[in-house]
Amino acid sequence: MSEDCLFCKIISGDIPSNKVYSDEHVYAFHDINPAAPTHILVIPRKHLHNVAASEGEDEALLGKLLLAANKIATQEGLEEDGFRYVINTNDNGGQTVYHLHLHILGGRQMTWPPG
Ligand code: AMP
Ligand code: ZN
Repeated sequence: MSEDCLFCKIISGDIPSNKVYSDEHVYAFHDINPAAPTHILVIPRKHLHNVAASEGEDEALLGKLLLAANKIATQEGLEEDGFRYVINTNDNGGQTVYHLHLHILGGRQMTWPPG
C-alpha cells in the first residue's frame, strides 16, 4: 500500500469503485471515464509504480494479472468480437496514475496506430 496512491485507496475501499472482479492478488473495476463501451482497469493489489518497475519477484503476479484480465474479458462477452489490452507506461506512454494497471477496452472497433 502506498499512502498517496489513488488505486491503493480503491483497493482498500477508501475511494469507491465499481468492482468487476476481485481475488487474492488482483482487483478490477470500471474506468471512471470510459474510452470504449467496455473499459475496465485490472490492477495488482501490490503497489507497483508501473510495469517497468516490476521485477523477477513479480513474474507470477504479472501472469495472474493477465489471466484475470482474460477471465474478465470472457465474462464481459468480449472474446469473440475482440478487445484490446493497454498498459500505459510513464509520460510518453500516457500514464497518469502511477499504480500498474491494465486497461481492457472493448465493444467497438479499435484503430491502429493508437493516438
Ligand atoms: P492511465 O492514463 O493509463 O494512467 O489510466 C488511468 C485511468 O484511470 C484513466 O483511464 C482514468 O479515467 C482512470 N481513473 C482515474 N481515476 C479513477 C477512479 N477514481 N475510478 C476509476 N477510474 C479512474
Ligand atoms: Zn498503489
